[in-house]
Amino acid sequence: MVIKNATVYCTRDLGRLLYRVAKDELNPGDMKAVTVEVAYHRSNTMRRGGAARVGSLKRGAGWMKVLVPHPNVAVRGLDVIELAHTIAHEMAHLRGLQHRWMRGSRYRRIDGYRERYSWATAYVVRMNVPRGPTSSV
Ligand SMILES: [Zn+2]
Repeated sequence: MVIKNATVYCTRDLGRLLYRVAKDELNPGDMKAVTVEVAYHRSNTMRRGGAARVGSLKRGAGWMKVLVPHPNVAVRGLDVIELAHTIAHEMAHLRGLQHRWMRGSRYRRIDGYRERYSWATAYVVRMNVPRGPTSSV
């Protein structure tokens, strides 16, 4: 898996969650062929979303994007349950699933999905600490 992270969130933390979801959603042999871009959602809300090329793993290489809220919006940190659910949804697209085949809380934001992905709260996604100017004493 290649992770292209354009956000302030820690790539290693994002990677842990991505790999954990990938264990459920991708064949082990396909993990290497996936590129994940992580970027901010354009709107200044708590919305999240993603994109993926449906069925692209069948053609050799998968690309997906996960959109996260900017830390100015997500002041209490990223909602890892939402993030895990979004990742699972996009990885299912990589395998070839279309929306009409996605039923239940595994891929849809319907009753029970937060409970289903509650395990994700064990995966904290921190922000990188910005390096300030060197202070002299
Ligand atoms: Zn979708």
